Amino acid sequence: MIPYGRQDIIQDDIEAVIAVLRSDSLTQGPKVPDFERAMAGYTGAEYGLAVNSATSALHIACMALDLGPGDWLWTTPNTFVATANCAHYCNAQVDFVDIDPDTYNLSPSKLAAKLERAKSENRLPKIVIPVHFSGQSCNMKAIHALSQQYGFRIIEDASHAVGAKYLDKPVGCCQFSDITVFSFHPVKIITTAEGGLAMTNDQDLANKMALYRSHGVTRDPRLMDEEMEGVWDYKQIALGFNYRMTDLQAALGLSQLTRLDTYVARRNELAQRYDDLLRESLWITPKQDDRQTSARHLYVVRLPKALSCHRAKIFEFLRDHGVGVNVHYIPVHTQPYYRRKGLDYGDLSTSEDFYRRAISIPLYPKMTLAEQDFIVATLIEALTEIRDEKHHP
Ligand SMILES: *Cc1c(COP(=O)(O)O)cnc(C)c1O
Repeated sequence: MIPYGRQDIIQDDIEAVIAVLRSDSLTQGPKVPDFERAMAGYTGAEYGLAVNSATSALHIACMALDLGPGDWLWTTPNTFVATANCAHYCNAQVDFVDIDPDTYNLSPSKLAAKLERAKSENRLPKIVIPVHFSGQSCNMKAIHALSQQYGFRIIEDASHAVGAKYLDKPVGCCQFSDITVFSFHPVKIITTAEGGLAMTNDQDLANKMALYRSHGVTRDPRLMDEEMEGVWDYKQIALGFNYRMTDLQAALGLSQLTRLDTYVARRNELAQRYDDLLRESLWITPKQDDRQTSARHLYVVRLPKALSCHRAKIFEFLRDHGVGVNVHYIPVHTQPYYRRKGLDYGDLSTSEDFYRRAISIPLYPKMTLAEQDFIVATLIEALTEIRDEKHHP
């Protein structure tokens, strides 16, 4: 089976991890701050806080922005559940803004309309999390302008968009947000096995996130309101967690980072090739905004509306023929946990329609052109099968 995504581990990565294994510090050593500085350098943000997952990064980002009971967090339904769950970790509530039918990203015009309604009902969100679906940045300029107008904070979920660019600047520079979150899960652009990062330009937010990722404990006298009793002293000044990244992971991340641009370039080449090869078929290929560079984490094709009822059959056909397809995403508001909170099908029709017709096909840097040709041929064959069945039942 050709997988939908796959990490690329080379000898340099292995040696970087082994070097840490032979060193004194498996965790809390020098590799974590090295990786943070390297990612700050790459994105142009002031601070990077490495943690054990993007999920943890989302949690400490919400905490640093003081999300709590009575507050609302808004995000897109077209994401992984973690993007919404972070609000519930803080005992806040979640609502969703539907997607743009072309980019599948949170729609700024739908956000604007929903904000106007929320303002009159006095339930404006404290935080909005745009998700850069498939690696293509949301329209951050428009979302940022709305944040100025309505007074909400912005966390970018850039789990798909490590190495992407928006208006010629790296995603993660936080030009239009308070905090940007990255994921380094193996299916993402570069990996630390598990791992995440929160980028920010705000020193106060950086200090808070550093505190929350490590028990709420500090050794920095400037953050304490009591005298230190001696050099051994540390103070717990908040309630935090153990969300630390290990030095093994940071060393892997540092080694992977040297190939990030190559990976993104290769993903874009392969995606462009998919566009070309599928152009004459019935498959609907994703639209790409040419003012930005997507990291191309996912390549999502859609079925024409008339064939959407056959999605399961087509999906099975592809898997049966060795093409490891997937679906991104089941709209979060239709998950049982969220339906128990009062959301339901029909609430966000663009994301629901997108979900019913979407199939993510394999895309990763080490995919060969022969594999890609095989995938395209199988995709075309799948639709031919279904159409023949329809005409000769
Ligand atoms: C992968 C992913 C996450 C969670 O990342 P982890 O590092 O696995 O916690 C969150 N949001 C989106 C959009 C993702 O794709």
